[in-house]
Amino acid sequence: MELLVFIALLLVLVGILAYHRASLTLFTAAIGGLLVLGSFFGTVGLVGWILFAAVALPLNIASIRQQHITKPLLKLYRKIMPEMSTTEKEAIDAGTTWWEGDLFRGNPDWHKLHNFPKPRLSAEEQAFLDGPVETVLRMVDDWHVTHERTDLSPEVYAYLKDQGFFAMIIKKQYGGLEFSAYAQSCVLQKLTSKSMVLSSTVGVPNSLGPGELLQHYGTKEQQDYYLPRLAKGLEVPCFALTSPEAGSDAGAIPDFGVVCKGEWEGKEIVGMRLTWNKRYITLAPIATVLGLAFKLQDPDNLLGDKEDLGITCALIPVSTAGVKIGRRHFPLNVPFQNGPTQGQDVFVPLDYIIGGPAMAGQGWRMLVECLSVGRAITLPSNSTGGIKSVALATGAYARIRRQFKLPIGKMEGVEEIMARIGGYAYMSDASTTMSVGSIDLGEKPSVISAITKYHMTERMRQAIIDAMDVHGGKGICMGPNNYLARGYQGAPVAITVEGANILTRNMIIYGQGAIRCHPYVLAELQAAQLEDERAAVTAFDRALFGHIGFSISNFFRTFWLSLTNSAFSHAPVQDETAKYYKQMNRFSSALALMSDIAMATLGGDLKRRERISARLGDILSMLYITSSILKRYNDEGRQVQDLPLVQWGCEDNLYRAQLALDELFDNFPNRAVGILFKRVVFPFGRSLRRPSDQVEHQVARIMQTPCEARSRLGTHLYLTDEPNNLLGQLEKALTDILAAEPLFDKVMHAANKKLPFYRLNEVAELGLSLGVLSQAEAEKLRVAEVGRLKTINVDDFDPIDMMADKSLLESDAKAAVQAA
Ligand SMILES: Cc1cc2nc3c(=O)[nH]c(=O)nc-3n(C[C@H](O)[C@H](O)[C@H](O)COP(=O)(O)OP(=O)(O)OC[C@H]3O[C@@H](n4cnc5c(N)ncnc54)[C@H](O)[C@@H]3O)c2cc1C
Repeated sequence: MELLVFIALLLVLVGILAYHRASLTLFTAAIGGLLVLGSFFGTVGLVGWILFAAVALPLNIASIRQQHITKPLLKLYRKIMPEMSTTEKEAIDAGTTWWEGDLFRGNPDWHKLHNFPKPRLSAEEQAFLDGPVETVLRMVDDWHVTHERTDLSPEVYAYLKDQGFFAMIIKKQYGGLEFSAYAQSCVLQKLTSKSMVLSSTVGVPNSLGPGELLQHYGTKEQQDYYLPRLAKGLEVPCFALTSPEAGSDAGAIPDFGVVCKGEWEGKEIVGMRLTWNKRYITLAPIATVLGLAFKLQDPDNLLGDKEDLGITCALIPVSTAGVKIGRRHFPLNVPFQNGPTQGQDVFVPLDYIIGGPAMAGQGWRMLVECLSVGRAITLPSNSTGGIKSVALATGAYARIRRQFKLPIGKMEGVEEIMARIGGYAYMSDASTTMSVGSIDLGEKPSVISAITKYHMTERMRQAIIDAMDVHGGKGICMGPNNYLARGYQGAPVAITVEGANILTRNMIIYGQGAIRCHPYVLAELQAAQLEDERAAVTAFDRALFGHIGFSISNFFRTFWLSLTNSAFSHAPVQDETAKYYKQMNRFSSALALMSDIAMATLGGDLKRRERISARLGDILSMLYITSSILKRYNDEGRQVQDLPLVQWGCEDNLYRAQLALDELFDNFPNRAVGILFKRVVFPFGRSLRRPSDQVEHQVARIMQTPCEARSRLGTHLYLTDEPNNLLGQLEKALTDILAAEPLFDKVMHAANKKLPFYRLNEVAELGLSLGVLSQAEAEKLRVAEVGRLKTINVDDFDPIDMMADKSLLESDAKAAVQAA
């Protein structure tokens, strides 16, 4: 056997073994077998065997390996790994990993994805959506709420409290609704389709706040007292973490409490003297109980020997002497209740700490644990409800509005923008449903919640900007007939809250994902922290060599998948979507490979190289969103009508994943590594393209044509045609216009005319006079004209009505008289 042939065989063997993630023993046995073959043909001599023994023996004999390889490497590792702050450790420890872990590990099992149960509503949850949710939607007029009253009406608040809207997460034993995360998501989506103020007001008490914290960490007394009161709406909660000095860096809050003795209800007790200045607190102006985060100090060691106890959460009734609350901020013309609160040396008992004095200093862990769930529900659901509403509204408007004698939705330039809205609507629903579904399976998905929060709110912002462009002046002129402008104004609210998006993309998604999802990194970190040296070496050895095998495997897998454009990799289906699964195999493997390369070359510096971290996080996010699209398609019975929406979503996300990888290589701090791995991952350059014009045309068609695919796009929206529901009216107008078009054509044909498609009431009279229309058909044209005018017209106002401060009229008049 020629030496070159032998080397080639060796490489192929190593590649196959690595691709299939073979164990070290199998590796050693297989290479040993090849050496025997080589010796038989005279290619391998004594030198070859000595080399093999020199590598194989220390690797396979644990005692030698641990003493001579692992121990020195552990020493080095301890030196170069940066210290983790307590808040970082607690953030890493909070929550669980789920499907994103499989994507991160480079070899996703698609059958596992398909087998996750599809979230479903119980009969009780469905009845709530059909009953109380629709009733409260009928009670709300968004223009009245956002412009005239700048608040929900007292009747709406009373109804929300009475029907348990603020208690969707509270257990039944306390009188709450105890809805699944999926049901909460559906309720929020439906509320958003009419009023963002309504969905924000309902979303917050069901997200991170006193209810959630009490259920997880409250003492029995606290639970028995507060939870039934919260469930009945006797208490309105808010939660105050953010202060003027600490927004994103919430762990740095300057608000503090000092454990001390003081007088409480006539007796001397050990309590806390609290001082805080908080802002941006949702529901604070109308709250009755204030959840407060502060740093607790115990200078006199009244609780123990620790002086700085750390972040602590307490529940303070707002009636407590010294609590200042009630003023409002004005968040972007979407005036849900939000405002500041202050307190100076407010003395309260230690029992006010959530979970009692034993939980002093545990506040940060409590918050990040609850946030990993809440962040996946409220903002993604509100955003998804918003995008879906915008998709249906834009589809209807683009079909009804004509310019250059054509519906604007038939123009290619408009189709491009509409396709993005439609694609986002399908994928947002898919991702949100899959994420809330994971919560119902018992997960606390901290990485997924960050991905879903960031990407759904970003897509919502883009969708509403796109919708404004398609609507032109109709979107810009505000008034009771404008269904877009409040969403456009309010989009940055969702971007900013619960982890502002720049921070979420650059620090949280990958920062948490890399450690939590990686099969070995956390184990290495934990092993290095063990105090028993023998246990540390054994644990580090297991993690380290597992890690090395994992990295070698990812290298060969990535190279092979890239070289073959994933043509031979596994997909669970054989239809048009198979190629997307295959491409994801490739990108998943490349992500696993480049994660290890980034960690190995940058070490602790990766945390500061935010843009590298952001791009790796983008790849993970795109894989997560793409798999949610494919799961949705599968869960809904692979409806071929939906295929353009699936194609658009998969192609857009995979294209973005490719871009993120390419930019990662081009900006990799170690240039040689960047250039080398670009060749491994893109041996023939970038192969994926954005969705084609044809696919975009098909998506735009779905959005403008009532059909099953369009109805699926609008599930869980409030589309009833009634006086103050603009979305419902628009849907009706679309159906009426489509019914009128053949009648219009019939009249034009009979009259031998080519009139523009307006004044349909006059066309109706012409049709009747020519005898080509029945009375019923003429009526259809008249009805369509009413809907058409309602759709294209905008509001106008008496200039005096537009003035917020009418007293200016008087002073202006006086000034005019004086001037005269
Ligand atoms: C309407 C509204 C409602 C809210 N409701 C509540 C509530 O109920 N309770 C509560 O406690 N808080 C609430 N908040 C606070 C909210 O969570 C904070 O606004 C948020 O954490 C961001 O803080 P900040 O606005 O001070 O921005 P800053 O922290 O000043 O950040 C400014 C910008 O810098 C970016 N940034 C910061 N650090 C980094 C980094 N390391 N890397 C990259 N980018 C970074 C951020 O992403 C952001 O874009 C609310 C805020 C708003 C506006």
